[in-house]
Amino acid sequence: MTYEGVLTKMQTEIGNPINYYLVFENSFLNLNQLLDKELEISFQGYQCLNCGKKKKIFRQGFCYDCFMSSPAVGDWIMKPELSTAHLDIEDRDLVYEKRVQLQPHVLYLALSSEVKIGVTRGTQVPTRWIDQGASQAIPIVEVPNRYLAGIAEVALKNQYVDKTNWQKMLKNEILQVDLIQERIKAGNYLPQEVKEYFSDQHPNIIELHYPVLTYPKKVTSLSLDKILNFKGKLAGVKGQYLLFQDGTVFNIRTFEGYVVKIQI
Ligand SMILES: [Zn+2]
Repeated sequence: MTYEGVLTKMQTEIGNPINYYLVFENSFLNLNQLLDKELEISFQGYQCLNCGKKKKIFRQGFCYDCFMSSPAVGDWIMKPELSTAHLDIEDRDLVYEKRVQLQPHVLYLALSSEVKIGVTRGTQVPTRWIDQGASQAIPIVEVPNRYLAGIAEVALKNQYVDKTNWQKMLKNEILQVDLIQERIKAGNYLPQEVKEYFSDQHPNIIELHYPVLTYPKKVTSLSLDKILNFKGKLAGVKGQYLLFQDGTVFNIRTFEGYVVKIQI
């Protein structure tokens, strides 16, 4: 079987284990069914996820021009504390920014190797945690907009990392941590404007189970910029990574906007 299309981040469905899908224009692949099977990925070209042109991808699936102009990749995406829609101040497109920023956001702790602090829209729970390859996660507080979640995250950055250590996450090297205790501790560091949303009644810890047969001991990243054709046996899927039996890992997110052919 041959599948061809532009890579976008894998769609997921929570379950035990989580179900993963690669979705193309006219077809989709359920990756859980491909575990222990050989697959071949080959690079075919580019297709910007924003304008659809066959231009080289710059970042996040966007060509350079789209990355520099689209409101979907403004600085406030990566740095929520820079959000200004609540002040009626535009970054690139105020209508878009209001729609995305002025909705409930969750500040959370996720355990992917160590404890990480993060922010996501309420609608992205638990998808965001799955995409990061977290084994457990717990919301700290839900606030009405992105700005408040952002300043709370900044206040907690001295206590927790804000990036996933992806090698450890993929090797399944995870610290033993009590997230309920960590949440109580985190509550003490919240800024004044956010404290009123914090409740002593803790939400449940979400546990996430990935479809992985064997975790790699050493990981090597597959880059479609260097290797145009790769063949390997699928050993698992975690976060947005495909794990192969030989230790090769393929981060789908890094190659969004790349057109590939997948042969099974
Ligand atoms: Zn473009």
